[in-house]
Amino acid sequence: MNLILFGPPAAGKGTQAKKLVADRGFIQLSTGDMLRAARTSGSDLGKRVAEIMDSGSLVSDEIVIALIEEQLEQNPGASGFIFDGFPRTIPQAKALDDSLAARGRKVDAVIRLKVDENALIERVTKRFEAEGRADDNPDAFKKRLVAYSSQTAPLVEVYRAQGKLSEIDGMADVASVAAAIGGILDSV
Ligand code: AMP
Repeated sequence: MNLILFGPPAAGKGTQAKKLVADRGFIQLSTGDMLRAARTSGSDLGKRVAEIMDSGSLVSDEIVIALIEEQLEQNPGASGFIFDGFPRTIPQAKALDDSLAARGRKVDAVIRLKVDENALIERVTKRFEAEGRADDNPDAFKKRLVAYSSQTAPLVEVYRAQGKLSEIDGMADVASVAAAIGGILDSV
């Protein structure tokens, strides 16, 4: 079972992915987490992406596709992956399909967390105060929302056309969202 958790930044994808790792033994592949780890380690990659991330723009398709490819390669026996924050562009979605197909796998389900933008801004303001992530500052966050609308949201129709898309209310509490995701996975 390979699942894409889909939605704008701060929709709760990471929280739900971590629950699925704990409850179902999936492997979470978060390109945002991988890029932050690269920055913390001080690697060349981390240095290359720092400014782009802090501004709220997307890093290149080439970089994130390579990160995902590396993880798929390192986990050949995984029972399932949760893609969190990837794919974010049409070329990333195409690369993911190709990488999975090369391993006899596919995207089985795409779950979209639907959220209200004003509530997201509130959530992120709180997260900025608590965690101080540079890309959560109001200007960068607005840019992330614009990147989502222009580059990522078009994927909704791609996956809907493939019959893989389920949509749930991402504004519900964490346990209710988790229950809704569980219900969808049990029916796939
Ligand atoms: P996230 O934690 O998923 O919101 O990602 C934080 C930042 O990392 C994003 O604002 C982008 O700069 C970068 N990033 C993460 N995933 C991707 C992706 N799939 N494509 C391009 N940039 C990404």
